[in-house]
Parts: sequence; structure tokens; C-alpha cells
Amino acid sequence: MEQEPAPTAEGIAVENPATGEVIATVPLMGEEDVRELAARARAAQPAWEALGFDGRARILRRAQKWVVDHADRIVETIVSETGKTHDDAVINEIGYGASAFGFWAKHAPGYLADEKVRSSSPFLAGRKLVIRYRPVGVVGVIGPWNYPLTNGFGDCIPALAAGNAVVLKPSEVTPLTSLLLAGAMRECGLPEDALIVATGDGRTGSAVVDEVDMVTFTGSTRTGKQVMTRAARTLTPVSLELGGKDPMIVLADADVERAANAAAYYSMQNGGQTCISVERVYVEAPIYDSFVDKLTRKVAALRQGASSGPGTVDVGAVTFPPQLDIVSRHVEEARAAGARVLTGGSARRDGGRFYEPTVLVDVDHSMACMTEETFGPTVGVMRVRDAEEAVQLANDSEYGLSASVWTKDVARGEELARRMEAGAVCVNDAQLNYLALELPMGGWKASGLGSRHGAPGIRKYCRQQSLLVTRFAPRRDLYMYPFRPRTTKLMSTAVKLLYGRGKRD
Ligand code: NDP
Repeated sequence: MEQEPAPTAEGIAVENPATGEVIATVPLMGEEDVRELAARARAAQPAWEALGFDGRARILRRAQKWVVDHADRIVETIVSETGKTHDDAVINEIGYGASAFGFWAKHAPGYLADEKVRSSSPFLAGRKLVIRYRPVGVVGVIGPWNYPLTNGFGDCIPALAAGNAVVLKPSEVTPLTSLLLAGAMRECGLPEDALIVATGDGRTGSAVVDEVDMVTFTGSTRTGKQVMTRAARTLTPVSLELGGKDPMIVLADADVERAANAAAYYSMQNGGQTCISVERVYVEAPIYDSFVDKLTRKVAALRQGASSGPGTVDVGAVTFPPQLDIVSRHVEEARAAGARVLTGGSARRDGGRFYEPTVLVDVDHSMACMTEETFGPTVGVMRVRDAEEAVQLANDSEYGLSASVWTKDVARGEELARRMEAGAVCVNDAQLNYLALELPMGGWKASGLGSRHGAPGIRKYCRQQSLLVTRFAPRRDLYMYPFRPRTTKLMSTAVKLLYGRGKRD
């Protein structure tokens, strides 16, 4: 039922990062393959669009049921190619995927409905003005390896709901979930070729950018810039969700126990390989010692290893081979510069590829662990004088994906949240905003461009068209040829009367 791999001379071996075992080989598709896939997607798109919202929603709802009915099989695939825990896969991938199919099936018609507007210009009296959305045609989705369902496949769902065909390029290290789900969608009635998976590496992704009408990309800021540069050649619009270095501010009046539980979970879940992982924490001095003590105990108690079912381990493997060096470098450089490792602090290669859950203190912003995206199971904690210093340090970053503030005074928390330079900010929570599919989610600064979720999360897959419809009109409007002094004077008086009466300072 999985998509048939196209014949190819070269293949990519897919490895289980938690065991080191090679579990599959997929084709390495080149430019020519991608061109052919995109042509097939383009040919399939009109019929898919012609099904209308209701016809497409029926198939998306069937896919939603498929995800729920086959959750075990999907989880097994995700766990085997990412090395994450069973629990991370259930909570943050199946939970998201199942809800996203239903959400976009239900909300696409509303978000993309024709919108009538009224003009304030008297020159347009009586004209009908409408904003409408049409699918771009073929969307290219380039996905990362940390969430094969949520972040790669998840972006295909609104693109399809809008009536586009999709070419999905999953990360070369995690292509199996995408192949499984593409096959499932065909089983649920998606027309052949309306969603095609192009397996391969960065060159394959680059070829996808050349062939599609819009690209949505999730991954590193460095590659995101390359995608945007490439897309500029063909003026192809892009939406980019890039790296993050999410700060967490803990004020002195916060519930220390909840804040420590949250810091442990949101920094370590999915092995810290989440774009919106908590990577740095700023704690007000009065509760710093108690917070660090609690956090360290909780992190030290986490069980790590290959997941063999629900609740067997808390933290899984490092999915992407080079990531282990990045995490190790951040910790070693910090240690050399005076940071203390309170728990963890080493890579483990016992069959699989792991980095121990790690808490760092005595860190500062001269260290990469507090400024660059670590993307691993580590968290750095800094003591701050007050909320002002915390906000200033939180905003001292090239990234701006999301952030959180923890305090019992929610009004103050919200006031501080509004001063944070991030696309999404939670008060007394973190990451949960991602589950509110009504709420746009996008990064500021080097964390991205555009957003997923909410109305912008589906309108980005469309061309916006403005319609002006004139039903009743004279044979010749006043301003039409030939120009006459009297009418131009009249127009000029009208402009003065309409717009020239504002108060002057
Ligand atoms: P990349 O950004 O390089 O990869 C993301 C996707 O882009 C993958 O499918 C990749 O393919 C593809 N790709 C790579 N090069 C190109 C290109 N030139 N044109 C088009 N597509 C391309 O992420 P990495 O896997 O290299 O991870 C590097 C860093 O990115 C991590 O250390 C982490 O900090 C960050 N990251 C952030 C994520 C987030 O959610 N914001 C998710 C994943 C990583 P392939 O994998 O086959 O090379």
C-alpha cells in the first residue's frame, strides 16, 4: 500500500537512530525524477480542486479515521526512523495528525470563502468588491526529521484542503512516515498523484523548489535561506519555519514545582528536537536555587534509551547523525568557559545515538548553548535580577520562534509576554499554542517567514484574487476620455472636499 519507490540507481539507507539498524532503503530522486513527479502532480490537480470543499473534506475525514485506526502502525514507523519515544510519537504526532485532518476539512471552506468588502471611496459606489482564494496549483512541502508526521506531512493537509496537489520532500533520514501516509491517503480516495512523495536529499529538495508554485519549508535557518534564494529565481513564494532558541522566564511568584516540571518536559520532550523546545531559562534570584534543584532532580530521573512501548523510556535518541556533534560542542564549549553540568553532559553510543538529558548552569550569552539552536536534550539556566533583565536577555537572540513567562500574576505575565520578540508567547504554559490550530504559528527574526495554522496557514497555499463587478453604470464615466477642464476641475474639488478637510496641527 505504500507508495511504490521509483526505480533508481542510487538509494538512501534509513537507519533506526536508537539501535543503529538499517530498516529500509528509499530512492534518491534527482532533478529529472522531481520534474516528472511535479508534472504528474500538476496533471492531477484540476480534478482534485474540482471536487470542491465537500468532496475533499470527505477524503480528509477518511484519512483522519485511518490515522486513528492505524495509530500503532504509524507510531511504529515514526519511532523506528526517528528513535523518539513511543509516547512522544503518540502525543505529539498522532494527536496532531488526527486533529489536523478534521480541522482543515472543517475550516478550509470558511478560511477560503469569498469575502465581500465595502470601499470607502465614493467613486466605487454600487460596485461589488470581492476577495477570493484559488489554490496555487502544486505546493512543495519540504519537511524536517524531527516530526515526520506533524511537521512534514502536517503541512500537506491544509495545502490539499485548499485544492492543491502536493509534492512532499521528507528529510532523507525520515522518509518512511511520509510514504506510509501518502499510501494511506490514496487508500482513502485521494486521486493518484494529488500527493507525491519525492524521497532524496538536499538536491532533491532544491529540485522541488524549482518545479512547484509555492514552497513551505521547515528546517534550519541556513537551509531556509538557501530555499528562499533558490525560489527567488522563479519568484516562487515561500513560507519558512526555521530554527528557534526559545526562552522561558520564571518570575519569583511562579509555582516553582509546575515551572520545574514544565522546564524538564518542554526542554527534553522529543529529545529536545523540537523547534519550540525550551532551550534557555531565566529565573528570578529569590527562587533560582529551589528551581534549579527541582529541575535537576527531575531531569536526572529521566530514563533514556530505545523505546519499546508506552512508558518504557522518557527520552529517545538523537535522530540526525550530525546533531550529536552540535549538542556535544555546545556543552563542551560551555564547560570550558566555566559552566557547570548538574546532570548529564555526555554522548552515549550504546548501539544507538544518544545524548544524556543535561542541565547547565553558570551559563551566559557568550556561550553557544545560550545563543545558537542546540536542538538536543539540554537546557541552560541563568539567574536574573528581575523581570526586566529576563526580558532583555530573552529578546537578546537572533531567533524569535516562541517564548514563555511563568508567574501567578497573569496580568503581569501577559504584559511581559507582549514585550517578547517571538511569534508566539505562552503564559504559564509552553508549546501548547501549537495545538490550537486556529492560532497562527510563525517565527520572527531568523525563525521564519509566514506561518502555519489559522487563516494565514491555508491562505498561503492560495493565490488571492480581487474581483470588482459593475452591474449598473453610465455609458461614459465622468473621468473617461476626452478630458475636459470642467470635469477635471470637478474631480479636483471632489478630492478636496472628501480628503482635504482633516485638521492640521
Ligand atoms: P535542514 O534545514 O538542512 O533540512 C530540512 C529539509 O530541507 C530536509 O528535508 C532537507 O533534506 C532539505 N534540504 C536540505 N538542503 C536543501 C536545499 N538546498 N534545498 C531544499 N531543501 C533542502 O535541516 P538539517 O536536517 O540539516 O538540520 C540542521 C539543523 O536544523 C538542526 O541542527 C536544527 O538546529 C535545525 N532544524 C530545525 C527544525 C525546526 O523544526 N525548526 C527541524 C529540523 C532541523 P535532507 O534532510 O534530505 O538533507
